[in-house]
Amino acid sequence: MSATITPTDRDDVQPVANETLDRFLTGTVTVIPVLCLGVVGWQLWAEVLGWSDLIVFAIMYVVTGLGVTVGFHRLFTHRSFKTGKTVRAILAILGSAAIEGPVISWVADHRKHHAFSDKEGDPHSPHVDRGSGVTGALKGLLHAHVGWLFIHTQRGLKTRYAPDLLADPVVRKISDTFVVWVIAGLAAPFVLGWLIGGTVADGLTGLLWGGAVRMLVLHHATYSINSLCHFFGRRRFKTGDESRNLFWLSFFTFGEAWHNNHHAFPTSARHGMRAWQFDPSAWVIWALEKTGLAWDVVKISPERQAAKLAA
Ligand SMILES: [Zn+2]
Ligand SMILES: [Zn+2]
Repeated sequence: MSATITPTDRDDVQPVANETLDRFLTGTVTVIPVLCLGVVGWQLWAEVLGWSDLIVFAIMYVVTGLGVTVGFHRLFTHRSFKTGKTVRAILAILGSAAIEGPVISWVADHRKHHAFSDKEGDPHSPHVDRGSGVTGALKGLLHAHVGWLFIHTQRGLKTRYAPDLLADPVVRKISDTFVVWVIAGLAAPFVLGWLIGGTVADGLTGLLWGGAVRMLVLHHATYSINSLCHFFGRRRFKTGDESRNLFWLSFFTFGEAWHNNHHAFPTSARHGMRAWQFDPSAWVIWALEKTGLAWDVVKISPERQAAKLAA
């Protein structure tokens, strides 16, 4: 039985001359830069970032984000509710301003994703043909997140996957004039910033935050549905693919991260199928229905949900 070795007994440990002083100096060196970073942040806030920028960012993030989730996804791709021409046009325009491609291309790709989920033919699965191990997983995630946007071998053929939208003259026009809505979506934060802040400089920083930063954050929120929501999270329903529910991502994606629920019931207007599952896109559809602007809203009964639960 060996005796317990205390640090002082060991011959390979350098003793400290003054432990208290040493800890004080280490703490200082660790904490001071963090405090300095706080000062830098405060300076940035005071100098270049103001409330008007954050307000413009929030407005633009919400309206273009809902254009994608309520419009591009739940209305145009999955027909989870019906609405009139004007609301359809508004949602198609707002979604276009998110700069994720013209509405008809977006819908064709996404319908193909549902048709082939995580099998050969899926435009953005992190699992198809990516090799094994950590390298394979990272390669798959990168492909599903952003890589697939650079290749065109598995895109959805519009005539096959979106004939209903090609036959809709209003949606087709908005899809064909995509660039106009992109520019309008950048002009809007400039004007908003100018109106709220009062100067042209506020308009320019509004364009930066409500245009560029908003686009960056919204893009990666959307991309994360394709990558993270087919990789991490819980699987509540049997779906035959790798779709998952990712709680924390629902806050950045207006409820779209309940992605396993969505693959289980693609036409459902609600993706957050339990009361606590945050899904503001469903609240918008609910409000449209209550005001008579939406009808034939697809709802999934508790019995249908129970029948599909994962073991
Ligand atoms: Zn999916
Ligand atoms: Zn979908």
